[in-house]
Amino acid sequence: MVRTSPTEVSGYRNDGVGTAVALVNAVTAGGDSSSETLGALLTSYNFKVDAPLTGEETEALRRWAELLRPVFAETGQEQAIEVLNTVMGAVPMHPHVSDHGLGPHLHYAPPGAGLIDRVRANTAVGLAFVICEHGAGRLGVCLDTGCERVYADVSRGPRRRYCSKTCLNRATVAAFRARQAAAST
Ligand SMILES: [Zn+2]
Ligand SMILES: [Zn+2]
Repeated sequence: MVRTSPTEVSGYRNDGVGTAVALVNAVTAGGDSSSETLGALLTSYNFKVDAPLTGEETEALRRWAELLRPVFAETGQEQAIEVLNTVMGAVPMHPHVSDHGLGPHLHYAPPGAGLIDRVRANTAVGLAFVICEHGAGRLGVCLDTGCERVYADVSRGPRRRYCSKTCLNRATVAAFRARQAAAST
């Protein structure tokens, strides 16, 4: 699993972005959205998962991923912001500084919030930071034909259009072959 910025310990916003991408891909892009996989996914992004996810929690995560997907899929900045603000408006937030062995960092969900609310708050705020700092154009759906995966590009380089190097390479080869075929007919 690719983390956006594994080095920034206190940057909960980056964990939120990575979690949002991984969750949306697991649920809406033909990934594995079983409760075991989603639980492992959250653990890998440093969420404290105390017990195996219940069916209800798994369903809530899937619904949340479906709600987040349009934030990536919307091509207009205004529309992406509107979608994000709408879904974010339904998430209980109570920002506070916490230090549980990681150094002081911001938590966005209310103290004592359950896992699902923590995931909602973190992922929504993460995406909000990407839009505010980089623009909604940095959130997208992979351009490769047949790939439904989303990405968040917070790099400084030119804007990314593909979810992974694999998809970029495949698309480059396909475009090359198409040009060759066009030239030979
Ligand atoms: Zn924390
Ligand atoms: Zn892709």
